[in-house]
Amino acid sequence: MISGDILYWLGWIGVIAFYCAMIYLAWWALFSDRHKGRRRCPKCWYDMCGTPGMTCNECGHTVHFEKQLTKRRRRPLFALLSFVSCVAIAGYISESLVDQGWLNLAPTKALILSLPFTMDINGSTYKELVRRMQADELSDREWRMVMKRCAEGDWERRPLSDAWLQSYAQVIAAWRGALESGSKAEEPLLDLEPVVNITTRDSWPADVSPRLEVTLQDWWPSGMETRVRAQPRIEGEPATTFYKTNAFFRQPAYQLPIPPLTQENSQVVIDLTIDRRRTAEEAADWESVGTYTVTVPLVRKGRLDDLLEPVQGSAIDQVMRQALSGQVTKWDKGRSPVRVNIQARQTNTDVFQGIAVGAIIELLCDGQVARRLDIWWPAGARGIDWEVVYEDEPLLRTASGRDGTWQMRVRGDAELALRVPGATKYWAGQFTIPMKVRRARQSEAPPRPWWTDDDDAVAVNPDAPADG
Ligand SMILES: [Zn+2]
Repeated sequence: MISGDILYWLGWIGVIAFYCAMIYLAWWALFSDRHKGRRRCPKCWYDMCGTPGMTCNECGHTVHFEKQLTKRRRRPLFALLSFVSCVAIAGYISESLVDQGWLNLAPTKALILSLPFTMDINGSTYKELVRRMQADELSDREWRMVMKRCAEGDWERRPLSDAWLQSYAQVIAAWRGALESGSKAEEPLLDLEPVVNITTRDSWPADVSPRLEVTLQDWWPSGMETRVRAQPRIEGEPATTFYKTNAFFRQPAYQLPIPPLTQENSQVVIDLTIDRRRTAEEAADWESVGTYTVTVPLVRKGRLDDLLEPVQGSAIDQVMRQALSGQVTKWDKGRSPVRVNIQARQTNTDVFQGIAVGAIIELLCDGQVARRLDIWWPAGARGIDWEVVYEDEPLLRTASGRDGTWQMRVRGDAELALRVPGATKYWAGQFTIPMKVRRARQSEAPPRPWWTDDDDAVAVNPDAPADG
């Protein structure tokens, strides 16, 4: 790599030096040879200082005016030679640039250094860099250069600004998983602040416990675990602690429950304490990241029944049975070994037009709940939102579809449908079907986006929804 870089720069220095030489040659050929007071024959350039008259002793050429003896000597052949060489070299270079692609010739370091000027995740410079990253052509030092640039941004894209989030942040999110754990390339990422956001509905029905959606974005090295302790400033209300890994490209929001507030128009203030540690190191110490205070307006208005109209019927139930056919995927290892397969696209039908899905899915073993998954999506959507509310891990490890002891219970739920933005109607049916188990090809179950200390009591968000 390094010798390639040197050759590249030497090549360009050589080209520039050659051009300088050619320009000098042209100047020398056309302008340098002045008479400087000497009389010279304009034909053979014989010095005629010692020759009186207008005829050259050397070649016999006769001039008519004295002025003709003081002409500047020009060498047009040399000027032409210089001109032709410049054109030829330029032609050769541009041809080889077109043939190989300009960017192919640039060394990786030059591409990285040019990022502040060329940064565009759809642009050709970044694409060429991605091609080399995919081909694993970057040296450790170059990986560090890329990550340092991404972490520091540039004058137009300061870290955490919108412009940065749409450029360098995406590069980090896409490539941090490729970095060697604990390597120098990861170091610049450790300095980046997380972005904490808490949002909620414009208004909550008075008979529903409100929830806040907590999103936490970080650009730390992959394999970093984050602990969030959320303490609402409400008297007697305990803190909720939840954990996330950064394995997800787009982390779903954590659904933070808030007790019903008595005031009609109010707000809730949440203090968040954030720590992080590397998961690779067992029992690594938590390192403090910082504390954040977020104020969220909380408006109570109306009742759940006024907002959402239940819809039932065999046609719509049939669609839900296609979306949730009882199929689950089971892994041998991992903390969340059984996951529900959901085909949300099945709801992209006429009968489901304008109807939101909000449902509680329970996996039952002899009537005992082994897992509860809450799901919600606007009918027809391809992706869904979900939250694992309960998991009995030892029981789930025994899950099987053979002896008929395992079943899947699906129930429409208004409060979950309320999480779908703009929902006015929701599926209110329910059914219980036999559970079918499909073995996963890989042995380790994918991680959940969120975990809590007490998984069986508090809501946790998760699941890679096997959609399709
Ligand atoms: Zn002469």
